[in-house]
Amino acid sequence: MKVKIGSSTLELVQGDITQQDTEAIVNAANRTLLGGGGVDGAIHRAAGPDLLAECRTIGSCDTGDAVITKGYRLKARYVIHTVGPIYHRSGLRAERLLKSAYQRSLEVALANGIRSVAFPSISTGAYGYPLSKAAPLAIRTVANFLEEHPEIELVRFVLFGPKALRAFEEALERLYPSEKV
Ligand code: ADP
Repeated sequence: MKVKIGSSTLELVQGDITQQDTEAIVNAANRTLLGGGGVDGAIHRAAGPDLLAECRTIGSCDTGDAVITKGYRLKARYVIHTVGPIYHRSGLRAERLLKSAYQRSLEVALANGIRSVAFPSISTGAYGYPLSKAAPLAIRTVANFLEEHPEIELVRFVLFGPKALRAFEEALERLYPSEKV
């Protein structure tokens, strides 16, 4: 499913983010940037050991912030590492932090002249953020950003399973009811 937001495209697909050919892919990292399970582990495996070596030189990333590295063996030239909130530990800050993770990732993309970005569903795996709440927040945040920044031509959400895809589709249909392309 795809919609146009100004001159940009917001797209939802089911798949594996490590296989994307966008200029950047976003990693749902943890604050240590030392790799982990889930999408983080998959990205490090696909990119090879040089990714971890570069992450070590950066050191860490705060929750809600984002940093950029090269993509090494990935098709994507860059990896933008962001840290989403751990849902049950962040209480009232959860929404603000998840929104910030998406926004900061796009700001970092913009600052590096990147025009196409693929996102996973941040925080909805090990970090326990309910999909039904995370999906509309993710869509709204990215759509608002694209409305203001046509320089980013494509944002693709790469959802790992049918449940995540469905949650994002519902959120997108609700926000842009008649704009499917
Ligand atoms: P977090 O710690 O931010 O919750 P996880 O990696 O545990 O991160 O999960 C985030 C989301 O990424 C989950 O919905 C999970 O199913 C999904 N995911 C896991 N592997 C991949 C992959 N290779 N491509 C895209 N999404 C993935």
